[in-house]
Amino acid sequence: MNNTAFYDYDNTEETALCSANDVTNAINIYFTNSILFGSLAVSGYAYFPSTLSVTNRIFVQSLYATDTRTLTHELGHYFNLLHTFQSSTDANQTNREYVTRDVFQGANCATKGDLLCDTPADPYGRDSLSLVGCSRKGSYTVLRCPI
Ligand SMILES: [Zn+2]
Repeated sequence: MNNTAFYDYDNTEETALCSANDVTNAINIYFTNSILFGSLAVSGYAYFPSTLSVTNRIFVQSLYATDTRTLTHELGHYFNLLHTFQSSTDANQTNREYVTRDVFQGANCATKGDLLCDTPADPYGRDSLSLVGCSRKGSYTVLRCPI
């Protein structure tokens, strides 16, 4: 659908935009020129799945429609995936995901970060990151660091 009223979209307009256009039993993806989420300009947003029909909506800024990242990212949320960097900036370090995947070295990948141990700990968003004392063993996912 083309709609100039929502060309520059603000998430407070979601009901107005979607109530007339959502399709049931489908993923409703809306591409707009810009997206304002609260006071924040974002490239897209989505909901975690639930029984609410609103969770069948994904919003992507049209500039990023084919960048192979943004829609994929939002689809990840649609399928209940957290950010790989979830809680990476938490002031309480015990809430961050540790690099180690070794339970004997305190691995917490099943309960922190994105709750998945097959994705590496992601420090995205941290402004002071150092990997002092770490060594790689074969692949990125077995980066070993002192704890
Ligand atoms: Zn996200």
